[in-house]
Amino acid sequence: MATTAEDRIQFKDEWEKILTFLRSTMKKSEFLTWFGQTALLENKEGTLVVGVPSEFFMAALSTRKEQILDAAQHVETATFPVRDIEIIVDGTIHKQDERIIQVERLDKNFEKQQAGTNTVTLVEGLTSKLLNPRYSLDNFIVGPSNQLAYAAAQAVSQKPGEAYNPLFIYGDVGLGKTHLLQAIGNAIHRRDKKKVVVYSTSERFVNEVVEAIQKRQTAQLKKKYRDIDVLIIDDIQFLAHKDQTQIEFFHTFNVLYEARKQIILSSDRPPKELMLLEPRLRSRFESGMIVDVQMADYETRLAILRAKCQERGFMMDPELLEFIAHNTTSSIRELEGILNQAIAQYELVRKTPTIQSIGLLLQKLNRNVDLGKYADTSKKVSIQTEDEVIEIISKYYKLPTEDVIGNCRKKEIAVPRQIAMYFCKIELGRTYERIGELFNGRLHSTVMHAVSKIQTEMKKDGKLARDINALREEMGFL
Ligand code: ADP
Ligand code: MG
Repeated sequence: MATTAEDRIQFKDEWEKILTFLRSTMKKSEFLTWFGQTALLENKEGTLVVGVPSEFFMAALSTRKEQILDAAQHVETATFPVRDIEIIVDGTIHKQDERIIQVERLDKNFEKQQAGTNTVTLVEGLTSKLLNPRYSLDNFIVGPSNQLAYAAAQAVSQKPGEAYNPLFIYGDVGLGKTHLLQAIGNAIHRRDKKKVVVYSTSERFVNEVVEAIQKRQTAQLKKKYRDIDVLIIDDIQFLAHKDQTQIEFFHTFNVLYEARKQIILSSDRPPKELMLLEPRLRSRFESGMIVDVQMADYETRLAILRAKCQERGFMMDPELLEFIAHNTTSSIRELEGILNQAIAQYELVRKTPTIQSIGLLLQKLNRNVDLGKYADTSKKVSIQTEDEVIEIISKYYKLPTEDVIGNCRKKEIAVPRQIAMYFCKIELGRTYERIGELFNGRLHSTVMHAVSKIQTEMKKDGKLARDINALREEMGFL
């Protein structure tokens, strides 16, 4: 399947997230050396194809495949679950390639973030996924769908080991379980830096136990876990079938529980439906507080979108937010994914989000897009008048319409004006005379010159060409 421009934008966005996470798992020099010239080229049904410029890089990255996979799964990309990583040599990749992420920028961001946030203290030898400081109780939007879970999370983060133990949060994928679990861990650790908070997924826990069994070190493992204050295990449903691990977990659980250490678990279903879990483990899970998270209602979805836009410093037309909220009904992850892609399209190719462009993103997820009250907007084929051209240009370049029409010769204003003239000529087919009249009584030859200048410049200036393309689409001519 050929990759489209949309795919490339999405891949770049996904790769950036994965790299951001990878940075937190390795040394600066290692990260900058090996990941500076990599690009996510394709997603073959869950296998991410990562391109590198030479055999040399391929060898280096191959030894880090597990780490990359782990990062990809941690990030849990918006549109697909990742199962494997394939690394290939692609000779066309080079430093200035537009597919390449500026890793120096990610590194700077990471260092800035590290300066201001907590790192997790761990008991020697114990592995824990780092808590992601992005998740907090403050940036969790509360609505009827998650009110109870949120209240329980708050109580536990204030009085770990006392209020509700264990706390068991369940619900479908993408509804905020990991967010809440991590937020509790962050809150506890922020309040008391000495508290040892361990966040893990049940898969990781399984691996750890299996390894300990192989090395005959289960006693050490037990001892390590005994020293922690808060144990968070995400997606506990994956413990099913793993009998030996379940027994280990049962012991760990008991030790911690009896020492009044806080245990927090999540799952895709309530304990009583975890059929392949040992009955005694199940009943332990049922002994604390069990809360569910459901899909947010429309108002909450809208509030989440507004909050995420604000977090990203991105202004989006309220109507578009309503449109997204109206059409993403299955998970918050999906809702966020759509928003992120719309923002990425804007940041990378200056494509202003529209009902149409968001409708396309939704369709890619095989959603039936309900245009609702926007049906008319979408049917509107293209704009009809010069005034509309001027209005769209003025919005796009954030200039007053008077400036677009007026006489100011500054480049930031003169170029948008020439573009406006170009559209009046090329798309609306107006005469040079008519356009001249409209633009402050300019001469026919001035307009002609402006139009041909844009046509020539477009061929040389990629940014201008992209702007014009975005505008053409916005006006409905594409
Ligand atoms: P789960 O673990 O249930 O599959 P996540 O916790 O990973 O879901 O949530 C998916 C995404 O949606 C995350 O980026 C998370 O921050 C966001 N999210 C979910 N619920 C909320 C909420 N109520 N407020 C803000 N963000 C949310
Ligand atoms: Mg999760």
